[in-house]
Amino acid sequence: MKILVINSGSSSIKYQLFNMPQEEVIAKGLLERIGEEKSFFIQKSAKGKLELEGSIATHEQGINFIIDMLTDKEKGVISSIEEIQGVGHRVVHGEEEFTESVLINEKVIMRIEEYADLAPLHNPPNLMGIMASKKFLPNAIQVACFDTAFHHAIPPKAYIYGIPYELYEKYKIRRYGFHGTSHLYVKRRLVSILKMPKEELNLITCHLGNGCSVSAIAHGKSVDTSMGFTPLEGLVMGTRSGDIDPAIIFYLNGKGYTPEDLNKLLNKKSGLMGISGISNDMRNLFWAQEKGNERAKLAIEVFCYRLRKYIGAYLAVLGKTDAIIFTGGIGENNPQIRQDTLSGMESLGIEIEEEKNVSTVKGVEAQISKDSSRVKVYVIPTNEELCIAQDAYELTKVQPGVISLKID
Ligand code: ADP
Repeated sequence: MKILVINSGSSSIKYQLFNMPQEEVIAKGLLERIGEEKSFFIQKSAKGKLELEGSIATHEQGINFIIDMLTDKEKGVISSIEEIQGVGHRVVHGEEEFTESVLINEKVIMRIEEYADLAPLHNPPNLMGIMASKKFLPNAIQVACFDTAFHHAIPPKAYIYGIPYELYEKYKIRRYGFHGTSHLYVKRRLVSILKMPKEELNLITCHLGNGCSVSAIAHGKSVDTSMGFTPLEGLVMGTRSGDIDPAIIFYLNGKGYTPEDLNKLLNKKSGLMGISGISNDMRNLFWAQEKGNERAKLAIEVFCYRLRKYIGAYLAVLGKTDAIIFTGGIGENNPQIRQDTLSGMESLGIEIEEEKNVSTVKGVEAQISKDSSRVKVYVIPTNEELCIAQDAYELTKVQPGVISLKID
């Protein structure tokens, strides 16, 4: 069965076509700069690489174009759209309501629209992808997989902020957490690697990409995570500040910064970029550090220190921790960050095997802790698209009347 996974962003659409349950990628592609004068398209498959430039004005045109390319006589990979039986859509915010992946119906569409208030940059383009896909693939089931869903089990003591409770009741201000699909995917992989029942596993999962978050997973369920009401809280990220004293905002406001300035400052000009003044890309910071750049060195130190603090906190939250997992572009590819974050934690049961850590190859799952380490440490490449394909595939099999799937 063919399942199409769509990640529809503000000006781009990423997609992968899977053959399920074999979990085989038949084609993957990216359409960028939707709405601009020149859009770029690339599709890779066994038929080769297809690269095109043109003008795609809307997401609807974009999805139509992608389907044309998938069914193209020469470079396409399927002969008819009827082969696609399910479409899995990444949706960023599901508020408290969506605790699972769901079949998309009119009510789900209304809710995604309503929750755009909480994720104004993400839910609207996610929804445009859904609407276009419903139009051009009317016979396929449509499934929404929410970034927030995996964190639904976080208890009130971890999701309530220390502000007046009415603000939670009135505006639903609470910790939601994001990157749920990635945390869920690496947890599923570890369950399968260790062949242990998920209910017995306590984990700390570190997703370190441009955006970064860390989660505490107890008995297979997320019980705390570093991102909060929005993806701005928590770790130091590429351009986002992560945790700061909220009073800094009022102080800067007093110095003339407007709310718009502050929003931009904390989301786009802070984090690794802001501290180093050089780049939001960890590779560039390592190159600069090697050349003696002190601010690049400081940015790397702050990044690791913040992560180390969260890991320490989550070791306390979990009591017993079986494993720590690193994933995302930085987590998967940077042994130095893993080493600096976890060094000197032997008394907490964490012993990194230097040789294994350094020799871990890109794209491969590996244990990087010593066999004697009480807490195992793994590198597991994330694959959010596959996780969405798995959920969409499972939902093609459910009985009529069932619309959701337990996240575990
Ligand atoms: P996104 O969150 O946009 O999906 P990624 O998961 O691709 O981002 O992560 C991007 C980050 O990963 C960048 O900071 C980049 O420097 C880092 N990264 C990617 N490849 C490597 C590598 N080989 N070595 C070190 N860092 C890397």
